[in-house]
Amino acid sequence: MLEQGTISIHTENIFPIIKKSLYSDHQIFLRELVSNAVDAIQKLKMVSRAGEYNGDTGEDEITIAIDKDKKTLSISDNGIGMTAEEVKKYINQVAFSSAEEFIHKYEGKADQPIIGHFGLGFYSSFMVAKQVEIDTLSYKEGSQAVHWTCDGSPAFTLDESSRTTRGTTITLTLMPDEEEYLEAARIKNLVKTYCDFMPVPIKLDGEVLNQQKAAWRESSSNLTKEDYLEFYRYLYPFQEEPLLWVHLNTDYPFIINGILYFPKMRPDVDVTKGQIKLFCNQVFVSDNCDEIIPQFLLPMRGVIDSTDIPLNVSRSALQGDRTVKRIGDYIAKKVGDRLKELYHDDREQYINAWKDLGTFVKFGVLNDEKFKKQVEDILIFRSTAKLETKPAETPAVEVQSSDSDVWQDVTPSNTSSTPYTTIKEYLERNKERHENKVFYCTDEAGQATYIALHKNQGLEVLFMDSFIDTHFINFLEREYQDVKFTRVDSDLDNTLLDDKSGEIVDPTTNKTKSEIIKELFEKSLNKPKVNIRTEALKSDDPQGTPPAMVLLPEILRRLRDMN
Ligand code: ADP
Ligand code: MG
Repeated sequence: MLEQGTISIHTENIFPIIKKSLYSDHQIFLRELVSNAVDAIQKLKMVSRAGEYNGDTGEDEITIAIDKDKKTLSISDNGIGMTAEEVKKYINQVAFSSAEEFIHKYEGKADQPIIGHFGLGFYSSFMVAKQVEIDTLSYKEGSQAVHWTCDGSPAFTLDESSRTTRGTTITLTLMPDEEEYLEAARIKNLVKTYCDFMPVPIKLDGEVLNQQKAAWRESSSNLTKEDYLEFYRYLYPFQEEPLLWVHLNTDYPFIINGILYFPKMRPDVDVTKGQIKLFCNQVFVSDNCDEIIPQFLLPMRGVIDSTDIPLNVSRSALQGDRTVKRIGDYIAKKVGDRLKELYHDDREQYINAWKDLGTFVKFGVLNDEKFKKQVEDILIFRSTAKLETKPAETPAVEVQSSDSDVWQDVTPSNTSSTPYTTIKEYLERNKERHENKVFYCTDEAGQATYIALHKNQGLEVLFMDSFIDTHFINFLEREYQDVKFTRVDSDLDNTLLDDKSGEIVDPTTNKTKSEIIKELFEKSLNKPKVNIRTEALKSDDPQGTPPAMVLLPEILRRLRDMN
């Protein structure tokens, strides 16, 4: 070995790099400074709870002030403050955070999580400021207030300050290019975007800008149906009520909180682009969680809050991340659980929701084996059968379950007249008539004649007419190996039951039933030759009308409509 050592870094060189490339987005400096202020307030509470501070913590408060003449923007808090030693330790040393130390020392004393982590946020202020000042007084008894100044070079000054109130004020003298941050409207907007759910009031000109309450941090047992709806309306104003929601809340093996809603589908709902808001400890991070949420749940909206989602990595790295994958699986599982719960508790509500989300569930089934296992028994299809619509087992009262996320429905849904059925139920219902056979149609209008043909013979037809159903039929065929899935227009031999009678039904033309039907079909289908077994027209039921006779007027009517 020739030599062993430590790589040296010239701060003069690294500093501009940190400033420029750490964050590409200048505006996030405000988020960083405000979150430090929130942390400072939170830390004071922890210290106070630990009995290490007996003074008055006062009302939590963060104040933003703009001075257009001096071109300064300042952020003040009445939190823990810093001693000269702490400024030297945590500010003068880049990438040195007090968060970990603090959390460790005051374990169990926090009611809100500490946001800080990497010890880099403070330096983002140099993206917009040519000079940054810290004026701070620590809560520690006998502390001397200090004033720190830095012009963005690694040189700083540290002086005594005449400050007498506990807390910290960070003052930025903005660079000429960044004077937009002297506009109150701009600041309000940024606070609303990034700091809306931070748990401390943030004021500008005496007005509180943020709403503070992060519903997703609440326990679901504290939230009513109206609370969930209100939160949805807050996030997505002027939208229809969501169909259902799940409250995410787990600490292991990763930390995630959140509320996700399945919106009502409308033509203006873009399902190709995610709308979930990503937060990290109540600090807004991004509007785009597309890599985190399973693709089939992309229409979901709401909030995900997690410290376990790596934030400063590329999208492709995010997609490959194991924790992110597991979070996605967890979300899918929660949605599956909710659907099952709804299916069992309130079939009507389930059917109503299904009309909008069925396609996505099917998509999930095709793409996600675990999700498939979860929901395979609750996949439903619209049917021609006259089914009795099962009323909800739970009456119109508020339901509170012991589960952490509650589906609360206080209104009985409008009973839909259209019946939906599972494949299992279909097979069970029809086993006397035909075993292991499922009739389906793919085009309600185009196959109307055939649907009527089946219906009139008491054969139940399922509608598999959404764009995903073509794939889904293949899936069903694989799943139910012993069941024959038969498209209504592909199997006339079987649907037109055999008729051996050869009875002439049209005296003018001397034609038999089967001949007429055959002709009608050839004509209506525009096919030269349709093969219909003549035996098909005999009825098994001595009193009932022969099936084909029921069919004839229907077919004639259709033909008339066609011409
Ligand atoms: P982080 O927030 O990730 O710890 P920052 O660079 O944002 O990193 O801040 C570095 C450290 O400076 C913090 O950990 C904290 O100890 C201290 N600090 C920053 N702002 C304040 C403030 N307003 N009040 C008290 N301490 C602060
Ligand atoms: Mg910070």
